[in-house]
Amino acid sequence: MSIIAPGSTIGILGGGQLGRMTAMAARTMGYSVHVLDPDAQCAASAVADRVVAANFDDADAAADLASHCDVVTLEIEQIGVAALEAASRHAPLRPAASILAVVQDRSRQKRWLSERGFPLGDYRDVSSAAEIEVAARELGPLIVKACRGGYDGRSQTRVDAPSQSSDAWAALGSRPSVAEQMLDLEIELSVMVARRPGGQIVVYPPALNVHERQILAWSVLPAPLPERMAQQGEEIARAIADAFQLEGILAVEMFVLRDGTLLVNELAPRPHNSFHETEVACSTSQFEQLVRAVCDLPLGDTRALRPGAIFNLFGELWAKGPPQFEGALAQPGVRLHLYGKRGARAGRKMGHLSAIGETPDDALARVRAAAIAIQ
Ligand code: ATP
Ligand code: MG
Repeated sequence: MSIIAPGSTIGILGGGQLGRMTAMAARTMGYSVHVLDPDAQCAASAVADRVVAANFDDADAAADLASHCDVVTLEIEQIGVAALEAASRHAPLRPAASILAVVQDRSRQKRWLSERGFPLGDYRDVSSAAEIEVAARELGPLIVKACRGGYDGRSQTRVDAPSQSSDAWAALGSRPSVAEQMLDLEIELSVMVARRPGGQIVVYPPALNVHERQILAWSVLPAPLPERMAQQGEEIARAIADAFQLEGILAVEMFVLRDGTLLVNELAPRPHNSFHETEVACSTSQFEQLVRAVCDLPLGDTRALRPGAIFNLFGELWAKGPPQFEGALAQPGVRLHLYGKRGARAGRKMGHLSAIGETPDDALARVRAAAIAIQ
C-alpha cells in the first residue's frame, strides 16, 4: 500500500457542501482538489482547483476528472455505475464502486445488511400498489421509500391504511420501493466509521439526531447515551466497515426503539450532516478523516474533546432578506458555516450553526439560542 502524499490531487464526485468542506480540509493538508458537479458554480467550486461540469452519469467526464487526480472520492451516492467504473480506471476510487452499488439501492442495501446479521426494522420489497397493500395489512402503518434517488425524505410517502396504497404507488412514480414498518422511535443516532486501505479502523462516538419533516434539524456529539448503547452502535459501524472492506468513511444512521433496541436505518459512505460538529468537537473532523482514509494516511483521533452541536440553516430563513447573523455570533462558542450556495429555496440546506459547550445539553442550548437569534 502506498500513501497519497500531501501535494497530490484529490478528485471529488459531487461539489455540494460536503464536497466543499472536504476540499477545505484537503487544502489545509496541502492537497489540490478537483470536483465534478453538474453546476460549474457549485458550493465546492470556490475552493476547487478545477471543476468538471457534468452530470453524475457522464462516464467520459468522470474519466477526465480521474485522469488528473491521484485518488477519487465522492460526497454523494447517486453517481452512475458506469461513471464510477470509468473513474476507477484512471485513479483509485475510494470508496469502491461495489460499495456504492449496494448503497444506491435501498432494497439491495437492506438485503446486504440483513444477510450479514445487522439489525433492521421490518420491511417488504414492493413493486406494485397491491404489494404495498399486502405490506400495510401485515406491518401496519408504513413509510414507503423508492429504492433509488431519495434524500432528505424525498421519494418517500406514508401509508397509514391499506386503502392508501394506490395513491402511495402513484406518488412514488410507480418505482420499485421498500415498504418499511413505521417504527415508534425513542431517538435517532448516527455513527461515523473510517477505514484506510491497510485495514486500520476508527469510530467516532454516536451523534444524537433530531429530524423535522424527515430532514435533519439538529445534532449533538457525543450523544448522551448509556455506555452500553454507545458501544453497541460503534460495534455495528465497525463491523459494517469491515464487511465492506471500506476505503473511506461511512455513516450508519440508526434508530433506537422505546425498548432500547438498536436498528440500522441506512448507510452513507461519505461525510454526513450529523457529523459536521466534528469540526468543533474533535481534533479530527470527518472531512479531514476522509482525506486521511482515502490517501491511506494514519487515521486521526475520533474522541470528542468537548461536546459539540449543529443546527441546520434552510433556505426559508432567507425569505425576508439575509438572516441576522450578528445575533447568532454573539452567543459564546458559536460558529457560522455557510456553503456559498446561490438561490435560497425552502428546504435547501444553506449552512449550519455549530457550538461547543461544557455538556451536550449546553452545546445544544447555545446553538439553539443562536438559531433563535437569527430569526
Ligand atoms: P436523509 O437524506 O436525511 O438521511 P433519507 O431521504 O435518506 O433522509 P431516511 O433516512 O430513510 O430518508 O428517513 C428520513 C427520516 O424519516 C429518518 O431519519 C426518520 O426520522 C424518519 N423515518 C424513516 N424511516 C422511518 C421508519 N421506518 N419509522 C419511523 N421513522 C422513519
Ligand atoms: Mg437518512
